[in-house]
Amino acid sequence: MIEAPGAESASRCARCGFCNVVCPVFRELGVESGGPRGRISLATALADGELPRSERLEQLVYDCLLCQTCISACPNGVRTDQIVMAARSRLGEDNRNHRLTDVVLRHVASTPRRLQLLALLGAAYQRSGTRSAARRLLPAHLTEKEALLPPVSVRTLQSRVPAVVPASGQRVARVGYFPGCLNNLVYTRIGRATVRALSTHGCEVVFPRSLSCCGMPQRAYGHLDVARELAARNVDAFLKAGVEVVLTDCATCGSSLSEYPELLQKRLPFRVHDVAQFLVDTLGLSSSSSTFVGKVTYHDPCHLVRGQGVRTQPRILLQRIPGLELVEMAESDVCCGGAGSFSLTRFELSMQILDRKVANILATGAQVVATGCPSCITQIAYGLKRRGSAVRVVHPVELLS
Ligand code: SF4
Ligand code: SF4
Repeated sequence: MIEAPGAESASRCARCGFCNVVCPVFRELGVESGGPRGRISLATALADGELPRSERLEQLVYDCLLCQTCISACPNGVRTDQIVMAARSRLGEDNRNHRLTDVVLRHVASTPRRLQLLALLGAAYQRSGTRSAARRLLPAHLTEKEALLPPVSVRTLQSRVPAVVPASGQRVARVGYFPGCLNNLVYTRIGRATVRALSTHGCEVVFPRSLSCCGMPQRAYGHLDVARELAARNVDAFLKAGVEVVLTDCATCGSSLSEYPELLQKRLPFRVHDVAQFLVDTLGLSSSSSTFVGKVTYHDPCHLVRGQGVRTQPRILLQRIPGLELVEMAESDVCCGGAGSFSLTRFELSMQILDRKVANILATGAQVVATGCPSCITQIAYGLKRRGSAVRVVHPVELLS
């Protein structure tokens, strides 16, 4: 078994409980085993062989959003996310609750062609009469989960954007672009907006064809061996492209790519940045040629604000759009409850966390909520739809063009 880097920090836990107070799951469940401190104890007991495997234990280990909120509250630098991922890895292939997910992550999501085929089948399902027939036949709890799935694009981003997009005007930088699976297969509009924004601001954008999944879903489910293989493939793709900077418009992918050095135990030949961070900090985005008249609020994705320390740049980007009024929501950096497949595997709990986020969004009176993570976009859009709200959810770069 490959150990999750940082999992050894469990020994530094002083059991003070500061982390429990901020944990979104603990806030909803209100029991010790549902908070980070309890999870660390369970994971440690599992590692020491003091706890037999059980379905209940598996559920507790998987009841974590990996949102990293507890880490920012911990005085001892305990990496609960890594401890949880190590425990999931320990539970491994015997995990009775996630057999189908494990097969998809190991054998489909890790192979771009298979993943594209699955997406194509999904697009056909969503556009044919099969979907409405399925919705009539499925039990209510499955219909709700099915409605969570966003419309899959018929054409991938790769088929819409050339491998090299020149800078419009004078070239100021040459950058690699990593869209991630969701932007490549679902939110192609975000990928096109990103490439357009970068090109407009003087970047030659290199979009390698041989990219794979970033590996975060595999890590989250304890498949560290697959995650490491995917990381090596992506590093190789950008090495061949000869770029020194890699940008992404997916917060989760950015966080995952930033952790490659720990995962691969070597330095990367390139730097990784979020697209908003690069546009503001490196290119010094002064103002946008596009306008947006109205109120926009911003949700901080966990993997951007805590995973990469990017908080101000997306807000600065939004404020540089003429006519746009940025209004802050309460608890903007609290997890939306999406966390990859958490909304599918723990639907009710995920919806409780989401309802709080949606209430905070609606209280701002904004017409649009912007966020830099396609997974958060999916979750928040679903939550707003459930409330019958017309508030739109977009990536900040979409408002730039
Ligand atoms: S805040 Fe840190 S030290 Fe305190 S209980 Fe949580 S993980 Fe342990
Ligand atoms: S990562 Fe998030 S959900 Fe998991 S224990 Fe920490 S605060 Fe709770």
